[in-house]
Amino acid sequence: MPIAFIGIGSNLGNRIENCVEGVEEISTFSKIIVVSSFYETEPVDKEDQPDFINCVAKLETSLSPFDLLTFLQSVENTIGREHMEKWGPRIIDLDIIFYDELVIETDELIIPHPRAHLRRFVLEPLSEIAPDIIHPVLKISVSKLLDELKCTKRVVKVGGFSIACSQKSTTYPQT
Ligand code: ADP
Ligand code: MG
Repeated sequence: MPIAFIGIGSNLGNRIENCVEGVEEISTFSKIIVVSSFYETEPVDKEDQPDFINCVAKLETSLSPFDLLTFLQSVENTIGREHMEKWGPRIIDLDIIFYDELVIETDELIIPHPRAHLRRFVLEPLSEIAPDIIHPVLKISVSKLLDELKCTKRVVKVGGFSIACSQKSTTYPQT
C-alpha cells in the first residue's frame, strides 16, 4: 500500500492537542505507521505570529493523492481551522510532503510539497523518522537535505508523541 508523509502544524490554542487530534482523525482513514516528536518552531514567511508546534506522520493509505488531500482538508475543517490570511496563524495545517515516489504538479496539489525541502520545521521531524528517504525530484536524501539546509529558523524538540497521547489516554506507535 502507498506510504505518505504528512506535515502537521498548529500555532493557535492548545497546539500539541490540536496536532494529536489531527493524527487521531487521520487514523480514521489511513494507518498511522509512526509519528515524529513534537518540535516548537519559529514561523517562516509571515513572522509576526505565534510559534508553531510541528510534527510529521508516516501513513499507509489506500487513498489516491487527491483523495488524501480532500480527507486532510476535511480534517482541517473538522478541527476548526480558520481560513484567515495566507500563511497566518492556524489551528491545524496538514500538508502532504511525500506520497511514495510520486511527482505531481497540478494547481490543486503539488507533491513533493514544493517548500518542504526549504523548511527546517519539516526536515527536522521528517529526518527523525525517515532520514534515508530520497526526495523524488531533487534525488537527495532527507538527512542530506537537512545537512545542507540554509534555513536558520529555530526548531526545538519539545517532546515525544507518545507523551502527548498518554495525557489524552491514546497510544500510537512511536520512534
Ligand atoms: P501552506 O500549507 O503552504 O502554508 P495552505 O495550507 O494555506 O498553505 O495552502 C493550502 C492549499 O495548498 C490547498 O488549497 C491545496 O490545494 C494546496 N496544496 C498544494 N500542494 C499541497 C500539498 N502537497 N499538501 C497540501 N496542500 C497542498
Ligand atoms: Mg497547508
